Amino acid sequence: MANKKSKACSFCGYDENEVKMLVGGLNACICDRCIDQIHSLVEESMIAAGIEPERKKKKKKTVVAEKNNIPSPEKIKEFLDEYVIGQDAAKKYLSVAVYNHYKRIGYDNTGDVELEKSNILMIGDTGTGKTLLARSIAKLLDVPFAIVDATVFTEAGYVGEDVESILSRLLQAADYNVEEAERGIVFIDEIDKIARKGDNPSITRDVSGEGVQQGLLKLLEGSQVNVPPKGGRKHPEQQYSVVDTKNILFICGGAFNGMESIISRRINTQKLGYKALQDKNSIDKENILQYIAPSDLKSFGLIPEIIGRLPVLTYLLPLDRDALLKILTQPKNAIIKQYIRLFEIDGVTLEFEDGVMDYIVDKAMEFKLGARGLRSIFETLMVDAMFKAPSENKKTFSVTLQYAKEQIEKIPKRLSVA
Ligand code: ADP
Repeated sequence: MANKKSKACSFCGYDENEVKMLVGGLNACICDRCIDQIHSLVEESMIAAGIEPERKKKKKKTVVAEKNNIPSPEKIKEFLDEYVIGQDAAKKYLSVAVYNHYKRIGYDNTGDVELEKSNILMIGDTGTGKTLLARSIAKLLDVPFAIVDATVFTEAGYVGEDVESILSRLLQAADYNVEEAERGIVFIDEIDKIARKGDNPSITRDVSGEGVQQGLLKLLEGSQVNVPPKGGRKHPEQQYSVVDTKNILFICGGAFNGMESIISRRINTQKLGYKALQDKNSIDKENILQYIAPSDLKSFGLIPEIIGRLPVLTYLLPLDRDALLKILTQPKNAIIKQYIRLFEIDGVTLEFEDGVMDYIVDKAMEFKLGARGLRSIFETLMVDAMFKAPSENKKTFSVTLQYAKEQIEKIPKRLSVA
């Protein structure tokens, strides 16, 4: 038996370098895996003796709580309205999909009608609110949430990350509680970047193309996956956590540059019946994304299996001037509210002269940075004030239009690159 100094598990003999955690006792050590196994043994013998173990009791409670606590789709949308401006179509689709998803988790899925998972795909320009929507949903439901970028994944064997590392991030977000992670939400950004090469001119390599889509498919459809808890590449000696992706909700997002022309082409080549002609006249050419159909995704380079596993397809429209103005001031954590709070902490009241907000929005439109630009413009606007305010004894700081113009003129030219 290994003694305390040898730093190996006294039960399985694994060295401390081979296990995730080694807990030391008086004359012995025990590793995380043995703790888990012993715990299961204790639970089994308790069940055999007719005693309900604590963990099982707790689990039952959360399932009941989940059933009673899922907010209705209307309530979910109301919540999203507090954080996200506009994008009503995406909010509606998301609300229904999320509601159904969590209803499905609480439902006994062993009967003759099996409720299938409805992962979501959101299409829209960068900075239109895709991540914000996913993040807000996770906040509402209080479930582990991870954001991953599809561009870092490559086919197994190539330099880059394995798709399983998506689940490592979720595990980390769930404090390594597998059960919690298994009901979490994953937001996969830039899913368009793993489209098949050839169908999309913007892709320059394909080790991150179809092979990654195949890897992703396994996660999306629901399977037991060996996950290296700390992420990184898989290797034979590593310890894995087994994560079941059956109840993990995957929300994917991407800008899908060039999608508009694919949709337009499809609409224009549709059969010319009376109905088609009539429909064509009423097409809103400014917002063509709203006509997205699964076949367009295939033309873009997503494999049909992936498209089938992302049955909820929705879009986000570009943000106009009015939306940007609202984003600046209205959401619960609007940028302006955040700066007012920052100054408040230093005992300073922050005020803005009329016209300052319009000026900022005009600049954001000019720089073509959408909502993302608002933050960087605001940072530039406020940096000098934030530098001085804590050491000055002023009770109020007023941002005049003149001051705003002077500060924003300092924005380096590189920011204005579209
Ligand atoms: P995307 O994921 O579509 O690229 P994000 O959701 O990351 O864009 O948006 C970037 C930032 O812009 C967010 O943090 C948020 O402050 C702001 N933003 C974007 N769209 C909206 C919106 N519709 N309503 C409110 N804020 C938004």
